[in-house]
Amino acid sequence: MKYDFTVIGTGISGMASAVILAKSGYRVCLIEKSRKLAPVIRGFKRKGLYFDTGFHYTGSLGDGEVLDLYFKYLGISDRIEKVPLNQQGFDVYRCLEPEFEISFPVGYDQLRERLHVAFPEEKKSIDTYMQKVVDTSNSFPYINLNERSLKQSLSDLHGPSLQDVLDRITDNKLLKATLSIYCLLHGTSPKEISFSVHACVASRLFESVHEIKGGGLALVRAFESVLEDLNVDILCGRGVKELLFSPDQSIAGVGLEDGEILECNGCVSTVHPLNFLEFIPDHMFRPAYRKRLAGLEESSSAFMLYVVLDHPVKQLSGKNIFISETWDIDNFCIHEPIQNRPYYVTSAGHHSHDGENKGYVAICPASVTETDEWSESYTGRRPRSYTRFKEEIAGIMRRHIEKNCPELRGEVVRMECATPLTLRDWTNAPGGLYGVKHKIGQYNPMAVTKSAGLYLAGQAVAAPGVVGAIISAFLACENVTGHDRLRREIAACI
Ligand SMILES: Cc1cc2nc3c(=O)[nH]c(=O)nc-3n(C[C@H](O)[C@H](O)[C@H](O)COP(=O)(O)OP(=O)(O)OC[C@H]3O[C@@H](n4cnc5c(N)ncnc54)[C@H](O)[C@@H]3O)c2cc1C
Repeated sequence: MKYDFTVIGTGISGMASAVILAKSGYRVCLIEKSRKLAPVIRGFKRKGLYFDTGFHYTGSLGDGEVLDLYFKYLGISDRIEKVPLNQQGFDVYRCLEPEFEISFPVGYDQLRERLHVAFPEEKKSIDTYMQKVVDTSNSFPYINLNERSLKQSLSDLHGPSLQDVLDRITDNKLLKATLSIYCLLHGTSPKEISFSVHACVASRLFESVHEIKGGGLALVRAFESVLEDLNVDILCGRGVKELLFSPDQSIAGVGLEDGEILECNGCVSTVHPLNFLEFIPDHMFRPAYRKRLAGLEESSSAFMLYVVLDHPVKQLSGKNIFISETWDIDNFCIHEPIQNRPYYVTSAGHHSHDGENKGYVAICPASVTETDEWSESYTGRRPRSYTRFKEEIAGIMRRHIEKNCPELRGEVVRMECATPLTLRDWTNAPGGLYGVKHKIGQYNPMAVTKSAGLYLAGQAVAAPGVVGAIISAFLACENVTGHDRLRREIAACI
């Protein structure tokens, strides 16, 4: 059978691309290397407690906000239950030296007021920063449905970094740390992240903050049922090995690792750019293009601690805690001991329902080089020395968390640690938390390629997070469906 489109990868961007194309009447096949759909966000259970993996919470899901519109357009809205996080403080930022704590309330004006109270001398800088975040994120197509091209945002990749902007508006180091803490949500430090991508991630949380009842798995199930309704064929456990091209260099098919060939007239690849490079024959793209993709730097990786406790963690109901040792979070202090690095903690189970969140997840930046010693091993087949290393990291993280978050102390029923290697094998990618860095001065992969019918989507193309991944799907698929039509249809979902 010949498909109109194959879509490679079943993350958020792959599932969204498949829905957009199938909704437009195309025959689509969605292909995933892992055994299950959407491995990055589907989470897992231990001792009966559900742990989210790649999706804990999101902004812009309030009624009429952009993610709400995307979900309506994609047919997801009626199949999920969104749950608001704590309106008075959904994210707490705690600095240990100097001692400082602030909780971020929901809403742009409320957050601005809270920051004014915490930094009374800095009202003007705070207003400048917040206005700039909103204005900049509004230049992103699909965040602003009237914005037509990514040119504005991309030019900003060569423009100021978050640090440049903060240095221009204030000398207050604690305020800069507070306004930079969301760097943990895109994995690129303030000196490197383009202000525009930082604004795209942070501004969503200024609008409204929700989780989805049942977590990432509930979102996967919702997509699964939409894909089924649209007759999208889904192949899981079937990695793509290569892309096949016609003599005129248009896309002709996809070769799977097991030897099967799927013919197609079009293809959207949502895998990491380095994986994409492995799919294409040397002659197909200019050496300069290949070099740019090969040179993309990876966002920070992480050590992640998953803890089951003997009691619910009330203090994490509807909120997350971000902690940094000092105001200096440059490069996430990755070359320092774990206890000196910034990290964040989020609830396991259901954030907003007391009694269900009997545990927590802690995510602490790390470098992939920290697990180099075991890089030849794969999940389920690791040496004993690696298990000991993980136990040691888990112990350090737990002691550190218990010291600085007394509210999370308690009897541990079960504890597991994931490392950059776990991340590499679970995401089928190099191991960064959020794919490649959106670093100033670095090439940003475009959705359109020089091969007719071949498009790129995924967090590398727009921005990390559910919102960024879905935007990347729109940026790729609008070339097929028509730019204006897609935006009009999304806007009509209000
Ligand atoms: C620990 C963690 C916590 C996070 N928390 C949040 C959060 O709270 N909120 C939020 O909005 N975002 C969060 N994110 C970010 C979010 O998960 C990602 O930005 C998003 O899932 C990326 O989606 P994607 O479709 O671009 O990529 P992916 O989900 O990585 O999809 C790519 C897919 O391609 C598949 N693949 C790779 N190679 C092949 C091949 N050869 N053949 C076929 N398939 C292949 C992979 O298995 C993968 O399924 C978090 C991420 C992590 C890691």
